[in-house]
Amino acid sequence: MEKQSFNFKKSLGQNFIFDTNLLNAIATDGEVQKQDTVLEIGAGAGSLTKVLCERAKNVISFEIDLNLKPVLDEVKAQCKNLTLYYQDFMEFDLNAIKMENARVVANIPYYITTPIIFKLIESKQNFKSILVLIQKEVAERFSAKPKTKDYGITSVILQTLFDVSITRVVKKECFTPSPKVDSALVKLVPHKKYVINNFDKFKQFVHTAFSMRRKTLVNNLKNVYDKQAVETALNELNYALNVRPEEIDVKNFVKLYNLVK
Ligand code: SAM
Repeated sequence: MEKQSFNFKKSLGQNFIFDTNLLNAIATDGEVQKQDTVLEIGAGAGSLTKVLCERAKNVISFEIDLNLKPVLDEVKAQCKNLTLYYQDFMEFDLNAIKMENARVVANIPYYITTPIIFKLIESKQNFKSILVLIQKEVAERFSAKPKTKDYGITSVILQTLFDVSITRVVKKECFTPSPKVDSALVKLVPHKKYVINNFDKFKQFVHTAFSMRRKTLVNNLKNVYDKQAVETALNELNYALNVRPEEIDVKNFVKLYNLVK
């Protein structure tokens, strides 16, 4: 691709990677194996797509910008195991395609990071892992531990379902064009540590718990849940009644929800 002549669209989060070592490192962190079907959101100029096609059985990739079609057509000609969808990933019914040994590996458009993650995890696809390159500060929130400033709603919700870790930081200079901030690769590997019957209701519970960060957990939850039940549950879990939401670890968030709901 002619980097100089292509009109990069900031509004579509177009920050491309051309460094072969970095592209290979991303595929390695994504644990892509020969039997895998890899889903990529945002093919761009197809640089990561090509590396994924070399390592996986199949690659399914989405790209919204039709200006990239000529360059991606060339990639498609080299990669017989590639399926390209030129459309908005957010509009696509992910459950309509069959994917075996599915993984996600993608340098995703930052303006829709959280919607993409939630679309992936709420789909019926059983992804073996999800590795996405996102803004470093967002990756830190996803993987944050209790009692830190980054620990909040998304940390709890994601870590209830996945082991979440940052596999590497990627400096802003590694992208064309360079974004304003550094990025990080964050990896989500599903675990089955907790049983939650109604995940939507659990999500609402976590949102309510963190609704006012400065308030205590009881003061946040009492607006929606029975105050006495919350206090009894906190006693049972050996927390003080003035505990703040960011002090509750993921395991105890699940226990608290199951006691209060
Ligand atoms: N994978 C390429 C790379 O690593 O060089 C490009 C990554 S770039 C950060 C994200 C890509 O996602 C852009 O090419 C952009 O046009 C595309 N994109 C943005 N919004 C999209 C959407 N809703 N659905 C599909 N692709 C989208």
